[in-house]
Amino acid sequence: MSFFLNLKSSKTVKCKKIPEGSHAHELLKYSSATLGSGNIKMAVQLPDGEDINEWIAVNTVDFFNQINMLYGTITEYCTTESCPVMSAGPKYEYHWADGSTVKRPIKCSAPKYIDYLMAWVQEQLEDENVFPSKIGVTFPKNFLTIAKTILKRLFRVYAHVYHAHFRDIISLNEEPHLNTSFKHFIYFVQEFSLIEKRELAPLQELIDKLMVET
Ligand code: ZN
Repeated sequence: MSFFLNLKSSKTVKCKKIPEGSHAHELLKYSSATLGSGNIKMAVQLPDGEDINEWIAVNTVDFFNQINMLYGTITEYCTTESCPVMSAGPKYEYHWADGSTVKRPIKCSAPKYIDYLMAWVQEQLEDENVFPSKIGVTFPKNFLTIAKTILKRLFRVYAHVYHAHFRDIISLNEEPHLNTSFKHFIYFVQEFSLIEKRELAPLQELIDKLMVET
């Protein structure tokens, strides 16, 4: 039993902590307070006088943590048997490639794909050259390009969860949590045009619905 537990934990991607007292933490607090007051449009806007890269960085870390926790609640339902390919409904199938170490796309199960994806995102978030945590260190010139790739890939986890595991999410009473998280994500990426429309196609209907509600 402990062997299997160990095996599982070794695969688990850890959430990235934003240290308390840091400027990034202040930004995150501001964002969640604005969200809490129900003003999602304002919660995604760049606060006055803030650096756009830092704002995108903080929110990207936050979305990664949320997705990591949400997907973590359904890992027992997302198996090689239930999800032999990484998909978002019958029309969309994803093959894993990170563009650097894995150039030729690998066709794999959804849990494997999501494992690769989350580990890859974690690697980016922990790379001080990409996501500098020290005060005064500037973001790299290609930061926005990397952030866009991260968000495009994180979207696919939402897309898979909605298409393949919505029933599981409902059975766990995670539906409000998932919807709140995804709505925030979509408002954020739309605010700064971070994901191309064609990438959002697997959840376009839901997106249209969420954007009309407010
Ligand atoms: Zn699955």
